[in-house]
Amino acid sequence: KLDGRATYRFFEPEMDARMQARRRLELDMRQALARREFQLHYQPQLQLEGDRLVGCEALIRWQHPVRGMVSPLDFIPLAEEIGLIVPIGEWVMRQACRDAAGWPAPLSVAVNVSPAQFKSERLVEMVMSALAASGLPATRLEVEITEGVLLHESERTLQTLHRLRELGVRVSMDDFGTGYSSLSYLRSFPFDKIKIDRSFVSDLTGAGKGAGKGAGKGDGEAIIRAIAGLGRSLGMTTVAEGVETADQLERIRAEGCTDVQGYLISRPIPAAEVLAFIAAR
Ligand code: C2E
Ligand code: MG
Ligand code: MG
Ligand code: MG
Repeated sequence: KLDGRATYRFFEPEMDARMQARRRLELDMRQALARREFQLHYQPQLQLEGDRLVGCEALIRWQHPVRGMVSPLDFIPLAEEIGLIVPIGEWVMRQACRDAAGWPAPLSVAVNVSPAQFKSERLVEMVMSALAASGLPATRLEVEITEGVLLHESERTLQTLHRLRELGVRVSMDDFGTGYSSLSYLRSFPFDKIKIDRSFVSDLTGAGKGAGKGAGKGDGEAIIRAIAGLGRSLGMTTVAEGVETADQLERIRAEGCTDVQGYLISRPIPAAEVLAFIAAR
């Protein structure tokens, strides 16, 4: 009313509150690097044949002074939106290479790289610099990308992927099967590894096929079998993500996936505990 007649209020109060929370998070995130609030946790990956540990995926954690541990799902999307993922991603790459250089060979480290990082001209140089500074051989580094990276499949993105590959870095397609055109992306680049999205694995749980969960649910087994076969034909490793139970593990083995990752093997663990985990195995 104070605004007078025929005015248009753009923000609802609650929307305003959300904007403020977002701005607060953004301000905090801009300081988090300098304040050393980010950490890496590592989740082991197991090759089924021989039950062999092959490496770990680096997963960022934000130890916020007030909010406590913040999940990457709650800040990576915003970091991508405002471009902050470029410096944060560089920190992740350097730290992950440094940590992995202290693990016994040939264990590798997998680093998630965002679409926005592929837009930056310097990605390949940054990776080379991280490898050189840490002493980690390129063959022990793996880059995980999602469909978002290939969405606007530019020449430059493909060129960047090929340049990484020429260094000896391996490239994985993350969250496979969740996007609109996962299959067609397999044709645009010769990935080393396909990571089958956790949703297909959790679909294996419980009462089995089509257990009244609605259309499309319960078919995880057939889908996993198909992707494992595809991986075999294309000479790619197939990793099942999010394996939580022994039952899921057995079915995944039966369907022919080569590798697994998930809480059953281990939750993501702090960097300082990785060597003990490796020794215990
Ligand atoms: P992602 O790359 O697909 O990573 C796997 C996620 O699944 C991780 O969540 C992991 O903790 C979780 N997970 C693994 N095993 C299980 C399981 O058995 N059960 C369940 N319920 N979950 C499992 P997290 O750490 O919260 O990371 C979420 C996403 O955030 C990642 O998905 C990745 O897309 C992104 N992310 C994490 N770290 C980074 C990073 O350093 N850079 C970038 N760009 N993205 C990151
Ligand atoms: Mg990943
Ligand atoms: Mg994934
Ligand atoms: Mg994911």
